[in-house]
Amino acid sequence: MADARTIYREAFRAGLMPPDPMSVSQWADAYRLLSGKGSSEPGPWRTARTPYLREPMDCLSPSSPWRRVVLMFGSQMGKTEVVLNWLGAIIHLWPGPTLLVQPTLDMAKRLNRQRLEPLLRETPVLTERIAPARSRDSGNTMFLKEFQGGLFVLTGANSGSGLQSMPAAYLAADEVSSYPIEADDKGDPLENAEARTSTFPMGKILITSTPGTRGACRITEEFERRSDQRRLALAMPCCGSREVIRWREHMVWDRPDGEVWCQCPACGERVAQHHKTAMLAGAVWQPSAAGDGITAGFHLPGWYAPAGWTPWEQIRDEFLRAKGDPLLLKGWVNKRAAEAWEDEAVAKINADGLMARAATEPYPTGHCPAGVLLLLMAVDVQDTWLEVSVWGLGRGDEMWLIWHQQIHGSPAESEVWQQVDTIRQTEFAREDGGTLRPRQVAVDTGGHFTQEAYEFCRLRAKDGVVAIKGSSTRAAPALGKGSKVDVNHRGKTIKGGVQLFMIGTDTLKRTIYARLKIPQPGPGFVHFGQNATDDYLEGLTCERLVPRMVKGFQVLEWQKPSGARNEPLDLCVYCLAMLELVKRRYNRATMWDQIEAQVTQVKAPKPAQRRPAAPSRPGGFVSGW
Ligand SMILES: [Zn+2]
Repeated sequence: MADARTIYREAFRAGLMPPDPMSVSQWADAYRLLSGKGSSEPGPWRTARTPYLREPMDCLSPSSPWRRVVLMFGSQMGKTEVVLNWLGAIIHLWPGPTLLVQPTLDMAKRLNRQRLEPLLRETPVLTERIAPARSRDSGNTMFLKEFQGGLFVLTGANSGSGLQSMPAAYLAADEVSSYPIEADDKGDPLENAEARTSTFPMGKILITSTPGTRGACRITEEFERRSDQRRLALAMPCCGSREVIRWREHMVWDRPDGEVWCQCPACGERVAQHHKTAMLAGAVWQPSAAGDGITAGFHLPGWYAPAGWTPWEQIRDEFLRAKGDPLLLKGWVNKRAAEAWEDEAVAKINADGLMARAATEPYPTGHCPAGVLLLLMAVDVQDTWLEVSVWGLGRGDEMWLIWHQQIHGSPAESEVWQQVDTIRQTEFAREDGGTLRPRQVAVDTGGHFTQEAYEFCRLRAKDGVVAIKGSSTRAAPALGKGSKVDVNHRGKTIKGGVQLFMIGTDTLKRTIYARLKIPQPGPGFVHFGQNATDDYLEGLTCERLVPRMVKGFQVLEWQKPSGARNEPLDLCVYCLAMLELVKRRYNRATMWDQIEAQVTQVKAPKPAQRRPAAPSRPGGFVSGW
C-alpha cells in the first residue's frame, strides 16, 4: 500500500494543496477560551497542560497526511477537548461540512448544551462566524449549525436518518464503543457515518472512545486492526529514559493506604507523581504497529493524567476495590486502563488447545478412568436428531467426557428414543473392574418435540430421568426448584405429570468456561480422552459473552456465531445441572465419600484411590495492563 505521507508530499509538491501554517493545537492555543462553567481551569486553552493531546490534534490539521485518528483513552483524559478544538479550527480556518456523532441523541443534546454552546459563545472568532439558529434545526434527529463556508450537524448513532443526512468532509465519531450495533435497521452506524466522507478524499475522521468488551468493542478494533498503535512514553526523571508505563508492571505501593510510585522500567528507581508535569512535557508517542497507513492510533490509560487530575492513589484504591468483582473490574479496566475487557471465564478458551489436551489423555470412549465416581447423562432434542453426552464426575467436581453421540432420526419416532434407553442402561467399565450406569438423565424439552420428551421422562421418572428447560432469566440459579407439569399428550391430561427443572444456562456456561481454563488435573479439571473430536470441541467452545443493551443497561449475554453447533456445550450444561440435583440429596461435605463407598462396596475389591487435593489456583485476568 502506498504510504500516506508520500501521497501527501507529492500532492503538496504538485500544488494541489495550499500550504497551511497553523495546526489544530496552535489554533487552540491562539484562540480558544475555556469558560468558568464548562471547565475546572478557566482561561485561555493551553496545550502544554495536556501535552499528549498535541500530536492527536495535529494529525487532524490539513497539513498532516493522516486521514483517520483513533483515540482509545481512559475516561476524562481530554478526548472531548480534541473534538472541540478541531471543530473550532474547522469553523475558523478550514470550513466544510462537518458531522459529529454521539452514541445517542440525548447525549448529543447534552454535549450541545454543556460543551458546544459555550465553545461557540465564548470564543470570539467562532461567535462571529456562526449563523443564528434557524428553524431548520431539527432537535428530533439532529442539531444543525451553519457557519461561513460550512455546515455542522450533531446527531446520535441511534438515529439512522441523522446519519444519512449529508456528505461530510469532517467526521468526529465520539464514544464509538457505546454505539448500537445497528441504527433503525439501517446498518452499522459507524460505517454509515464514515461513508458520508467518501466524496472528500482529503477529509478527516476522528474516532474516540473508552473501550468496552473485547469482541464487541469498536475502538479496540480500530486501534488494533487499523492504527499504528501509538503509546505514550514518559520522560523518566531518574535516568532520562522514555518509557511506556503499565499498571501491573510499574505501579507500586508498600501499603494499600500508602503512597503510589511509578517504578522506572529502565533503571528501577521509584518516581513520585509530583514529577508528572515534567514527565508529560518530555513524553513522546511511540508507534508499535504498521497499521493501514492512513490511521494514527493513540492509547492513553488514566495514570497518565496531568498533575492535579486523578491521583495515582485514587486509581489504586479503585483497583483494590474492584478486584474480585468482575463488573467493577470491567469498569476499571475500561475507564482507567483504557483496555477492552475480556471476561476471565471466556478468555483463551479454544478448541485447538483442548484438542492438544485430549491427545495427552487418550482413554478410550465409553471407559471411566480412575477418579470417576458418578455418571450423568443429558439428551438434547433437535428437529432431525437427538444428541447425547455422558459425563463422569469425581471429587472436586473433576469431569471426564465418557460418551458423546448423535442419534439421527425424528424425535417423533420411538426408534431414536430406544437408542437413548440403550445408552442409559449401559454399564460403563470402570478402571477397577467395576461398572457405572448414568445415575441421572436430563432431557431437554425446550424444542419442537416437547410432548415426546415429556412422555419419555414420565415413563422413566423412577430411573432418574427428568425434564429440563433452559431459563431465559439472566443469573438464574444453576438448577431451579423443579415443578410438576401435567403432560397434555395428544389432547389427554395424564395423571402424575413430569418433574420439570429450569436450568440457569448463563450461570453454568460461565462455570464450564472457567473450568476449561484449569490447566492441570485436579478439582474442576475437564478430561476428554478419545471422545473429543474437532467438531465436539468446536461446539463446546463456540460461544462468547458479548454486551447488549437491555432496558438501558449493558448486560453480558452468551452468543454463538451463526451456523455454529453448540449442542456439546448445552449437554455439558445439562449434566452439571444434574450434578446439582444429586448434590441436593447429600451432605455436601461428605458427598463424594458416600458415593465412593457405594461404588466400591458393590464393585471393587481393592480400596479406592484418593487423589491428593490440588493446590488452589489464583484466577488471572488476561490483559496487557
Ligand atoms: Zn529510570
